[in-house]
Amino acid sequence: MFLHGTSRINAAGHLEIGGCDVTELKAEYGTPLYIMDEQLIRRRCREYMDAFAASGLGFQVAYASKAFSIMAMCRIVDEEGLSLDVVSDGELYTALQAGFPAARIHFHGNNKTPDEIEMAIDAGIGCFVVDNLVEMSMLQAIAAHKGVTVNVLLRVTPGVEAHAHHAYASTGQTDSKFGFDIGNGAAYNAVREASAQANLKLLGVHSHIGSQIFETEGFQLAVERVAAFTRQVKEELGAEFTVVNLGGGFGIRYVEGDTPLAVSEYVAAITDAVKTHFAGIGEKLPQIWVEPGRSIVGDAGTTLYTVGTNKEIPGVRKYVAVDGGMTDNPRPALYESKYEAMLANRANDATEETVSIAGKCCESGDMLIWDVELPKVESGDLLAVPCTGAYNYSMASNYNRIRRPAVVFVQNGQSDLVVRRESHQDIIANDIVPERIIKQTVAK
Ligand SMILES: *Cc1c(COP(=O)(O)O)cnc(C)c1O
Repeated sequence: MFLHGTSRINAAGHLEIGGCDVTELKAEYGTPLYIMDEQLIRRRCREYMDAFAASGLGFQVAYASKAFSIMAMCRIVDEEGLSLDVVSDGELYTALQAGFPAARIHFHGNNKTPDEIEMAIDAGIGCFVVDNLVEMSMLQAIAAHKGVTVNVLLRVTPGVEAHAHHAYASTGQTDSKFGFDIGNGAAYNAVREASAQANLKLLGVHSHIGSQIFETEGFQLAVERVAAFTRQVKEELGAEFTVVNLGGGFGIRYVEGDTPLAVSEYVAAITDAVKTHFAGIGEKLPQIWVEPGRSIVGDAGTTLYTVGTNKEIPGVRKYVAVDGGMTDNPRPALYESKYEAMLANRANDATEETVSIAGKCCESGDMLIWDVELPKVESGDLLAVPCTGAYNYSMASNYNRIRRPAVVFVQNGQSDLVVRRESHQDIIANDIVPERIIKQTVAK
């Protein structure tokens, strides 16, 4: 199996990540456990920062925190000099509580509530990415009421169909719930509207064409379309963009056959396209912002499970059940996402059987991996599923009232708990049994 980052097989034949033997992590923290390779996260952050610095363009690299939003992660991202995207008051709260500088926070989303807008303005965030005209007038009204001016980008759809991993992950096409379409004139109209709002400062536009993209063509085409649009609104409306945000979506390697480019290659393709297509539009080239999520944190995560039961159906298949599943990783059920796996406590054993990895929820669709080759799997073995750093913990649920796992950061042989495992008390923490129902129960 492919080993990411600092993952390696140690002398005991155990998987080791960040210098920590996963059998020891299991003993200390239990399973399921999300193990995050801190060095690899930092390396990815630096790859983006270095590649942009080399381009000579002004830039911001904003980590899309929805991929994995916890306070310790916000701290690392801040330390590495990145900016941060949030999509809700919860992600904003997490970032602010972690001490992330508000000026480097950008607020996304297609349905920001008035409360969320107020909270973000009061915090002094750097920029709103305005998705639609309803939001624009609400933002103008709230900003005016508070007597402040807020920076905005307009989210536009450039009409690019990215070759994303799943249709739900494509966002740059005309038929999308997100943003103003360039092709049908909605974006042009939005620039005119935004320019007329006294309390909005229009910095430029934002385009996010999809997720888990392996080619550069979609990004280059988006740059070309956005550049043509930038030229048009400058000439016809006198609007000048100082920022062009090209979103995220850079692919990573989940399984064999996935062929992501190096971070530097994605960045070079974008910055070269910007230099080509934006030349001569304004006095100087716009700042380029990007928003990687998955490619910052995805391959740095490994989920460790303990194997429990199994069921062999002669001539059909063998199911092997682990102590987690769709509650900690809903991506296979949601997107038919593929993962690899290894027996982390017997990593050198030869593969012997093909099994399918089932979760423990009451859903036939709660399957993590179909048909993976492993050594003969026994109850109590440790199963490691790599590449679970993005959209796993952040998408985890309490379905079946299963408790969300703990998260540890590992580096240089040290492990640090960054999210504790939920307790039984956490599970019922928000439950209320009304007095009326208690009385009825007692009366019976
Ligand atoms: C989800 C999202 C991202 C991050 O996408 P990745 O595929 O994780 O890089 C960036 N920007 C926007 C607007 C998004 O919705």
